[in-house]
Amino acid sequence: MADAVDFANDHVEYFLQLSLLRFARLPEQPSAEHCEDCGEAIPPARQQLVTGCQTCVSCQELRERRR
Ligand SMILES: [Zn+2]
Repeated sequence: MADAVDFANDHVEYFLQLSLLRFARLPEQPSAEHCEDCGEAIPPARQQLVTGCQTCVSCQELRERRR
């Protein structure tokens, strides 16, 4: 029984490490100043809020709807 518990704990730790790794590997690319799709200027507030954003709000919505 004790072995099973240890095994489960190891698994939890494993997945915790995995998610931390995935979080650390988020793209660090800078936000675009102009929308990639329509060329509109992206508001500085959005650039700071959404690190690495490449499109304006409406184009982002279009992209997500297309998915
Ligand atoms: Zn756009």
